[in-house]
Amino acid sequence: MNEVYQQTLSDQLNFSGKGLHTGKISNVKILPGVENQGIIFKRVDLENNNLIKANFSNVTSAKLCTTLQNEFGVQVSTVEHLLASLYIIGIDNAVIEIDNVEVPIMDGSAKDFLEILKKKEIKKLNAKRKYLKILDKIELVDGKREISIEPNETALEVNFQLNYKNNVIGNQKNCVNFQFDDLTDIYQSRTFCLFDDIEKIKKLGLAQGGSLDNAVVVKDDKVLNDGGLRNKKEFVNHKILDLVGDFLLSGYRVLGKVNCYQGGHELTNNFLRKIFSKKKSYELFQHKDIIISKKINLNQSTKIAVNA
Ligand SMILES: [Zn+2]
Repeated sequence: MNEVYQQTLSDQLNFSGKGLHTGKISNVKILPGVENQGIIFKRVDLENNNLIKANFSNVTSAKLCTTLQNEFGVQVSTVEHLLASLYIIGIDNAVIEIDNVEVPIMDGSAKDFLEILKKKEIKKLNAKRKYLKILDKIELVDGKREISIEPNETALEVNFQLNYKNNVIGNQKNCVNFQFDDLTDIYQSRTFCLFDDIEKIKKLGLAQGGSLDNAVVVKDDKVLNDGGLRNKKEFVNHKILDLVGDFLLSGYRVLGKVNCYQGGHELTNNFLRKIFSKKKSYELFQHKDIIISKKINLNQSTKIAVNA
């Protein structure tokens, strides 16, 4: 979705839901943003110092979800699936008011968020969209986990591989081009966990709102949810969704090909920090001509307007 101009919502939207980790209900209002503002969370349950910019430099914890914190210690957590929805639908600027610390988990994927967002028109703003284009390969290795990005002129492409001892999850791979591919399987894929890990996670005070309504739970060789998986590669597809949500924290649409093995929120956040430390390996610009391979058959929804 390489639009020429930045976009926001035409009108405000409201929804509510339970937080995965806190188990508490949050009421959320998404308001149209102004150009170059980016995505800003506003904790309306607090009177002061309640703005938190959705930026990778504000990530303080990325263990089981992505938590943002401003300079005053005010936090908002589990932001990644909502951010992924904004990336997918093409929103660059918005103010997200929330009256609690955690973004609702909804059905554990980005499906509900996208259905809510589609209720309002997308509005074009006057400023051109901002891009981060990778010029040279950058990589980060952390034990067995690896992530790298190399140049791709036209799109964000994510090639992800998961490797679990559990046979149901096993070794899953998928490669998705966010400009040209159908993203239905990506945004419908739910967060997941192993049944055997649930007690451990709950003892840490996390996943208090977790249930089969908002997560895929795998026990031995079985998926415990009624109806099983939503798509064959739901596990790796969810990891790709997480990655794109975390990438929106760069503040830019990214042009590059990501290869990730066994990654997660923490690795992605450390990687964004590394990318921004390698100033010669990327270029930042507002929309300009993007050269598209002639092999790609453009249709209305994927057309890139050529702009001087
Ligand atoms: Zn997730």
